[in-house]
Amino acid sequence: MIGQTALIDVVVVGAGFAGLAAANQIKAAGVDCLVLEARDRVGGRVEAGSNGLGETVDLGGQFICDDMPEIMALARQHGKTLVRAYTVGAGLVQPIPQNADDLYGRVTAMRDRLNAIEPDDPSIAGLSVAAWTAAQADEKDAKAGFLSMIEGLWCQPPADVPLWYLIGNDRRITNEVPELQYLLKETIHSLAVDLARPLGDAVRLSEPAERIVQDASGITVKTPRGTISARKLIVAVPPVMAGRIAFDPPLPKSLADALGAWRSGRVIKAFVRYKEPFWRERGLSGMVFFLDPAGLYACDASHDDGHAALVVFIGGRIASEWAAGGKSGTAARIVARLSAALGPQAADALDITLRDWSDDRWSGGAYSDIVIDCAASNAEAVLRSGLADISFACSELSPSYPGYIEGALVAGREAAAEVVAQLAGSLPAG
Ligand SMILES: Cc1cc2nc3c(=O)[nH]c(=O)nc-3n(C[C@H](O)[C@H](O)[C@H](O)COP(=O)(O)OP(=O)(O)OC[C@H]3O[C@@H](n4cnc5c(N)ncnc54)[C@H](O)[C@@H]3O)c2cc1C
Repeated sequence: MIGQTALIDVVVVGAGFAGLAAANQIKAAGVDCLVLEARDRVGGRVEAGSNGLGETVDLGGQFICDDMPEIMALARQHGKTLVRAYTVGAGLVQPIPQNADDLYGRVTAMRDRLNAIEPDDPSIAGLSVAAWTAAQADEKDAKAGFLSMIEGLWCQPPADVPLWYLIGNDRRITNEVPELQYLLKETIHSLAVDLARPLGDAVRLSEPAERIVQDASGITVKTPRGTISARKLIVAVPPVMAGRIAFDPPLPKSLADALGAWRSGRVIKAFVRYKEPFWRERGLSGMVFFLDPAGLYACDASHDDGHAALVVFIGGRIASEWAAGGKSGTAARIVARLSAALGPQAADALDITLRDWSDDRWSGGAYSDIVIDCAASNAEAVLRSGLADISFACSELSPSYPGYIEGALVAGREAAAEVVAQLAGSLPAG
């Protein structure tokens, strides 16, 4: 039991990239800061783990690209080894569509057409992504591809995704180079550790914020180990997780409703190690885009030093279906799908390591929470406004790259800048 801690200028809840970026910026401004993290590690949805061969691999967020300036700068600043993802050769579509001619281009054209619609266009009010897709004149395989891509990226059934939300979200994902352009040889999780290092004891692990009390004396955060008093609070956790923290007095209705509008998706990430990148010999890139089952995607995640691997993302409804068969059942399904696409050598995996993020206690379940309440078009804006002394910052709320590590850095830094500016007038000089 730690008991009561002296008054801290800023408490940050959550040591994902948003919380860590915020805390570093606050510290750099000379303001006192404490980070409370529920897990026994930093990084949140970026996590490193050991595979069956004893190698450390990224089991959560992993890929970055040149169009993401904050995370690229951080990787370079910390001397990380950028490994360019292998994309030479043909990508495959499974099952092979009747009209294989530029399927990816036709799917991308649908996405571009969707993003040209104004999110507040009254004609799309109440419309889901599935309903919009059904009404399009595109060929059946292009529609199947589009729906599979949406389910794979947003990890929710397209019938549950409001069209306006998808447009507003997707428009902020502005990369022109492939988003799976680089991975880090040292793991991207090692960057989270680098971000936490200068904060030292100011990051408290295994200390979830359970209750946030606001009264005339300021803010008090209650954790299983005691209470902490703060002038300002940044809640740097995904919206669904923020909604599980008790607020006393309860949050204003607009904020409570805004938090309640989100739902976590479901994703399983599989890291499949091979002796050799056998697909390359056949002129294949290792990328397999599955029309059926929707939400399944594989690509090359090898290191250039002979560390051959495919990474498989199982997003949306199939994450639940496959998980029901247990880990061995999921691994068997992965091997069957990869073998059908890439050939029988896909069955000779040295190791298959699975990380099922669905229903994760502290992250929710997928790359990002999404707004599923069709009527909650102001949910993000309300959360971004926060309260006078409580801000919300997580990748989901970022003005650029929501749902990505880049977005987490941007959201965390923006919240920090605002809090530092607010405190600048009220703190004693020096
Ligand atoms: C499988 C997977 C693959 C992904 N792949 C990529 C990728 O290739 N590239 C990419 O850019 N992005 C990827 N992402 C998304 C990316 O990881 C996230 O967008 C980003 O890491 C979110 O950062 P965050 O700080 O906003 O939230 P989080 O990382 O979720 O951090 C929030 C932190 O708050 C903690 N927390 C929650 N509740 C409490 C509480 N009550 N008290 C204290 N602490 C609490 C959590 O433990 C967590 O550490 C992936 C995500 C997953 C799951």
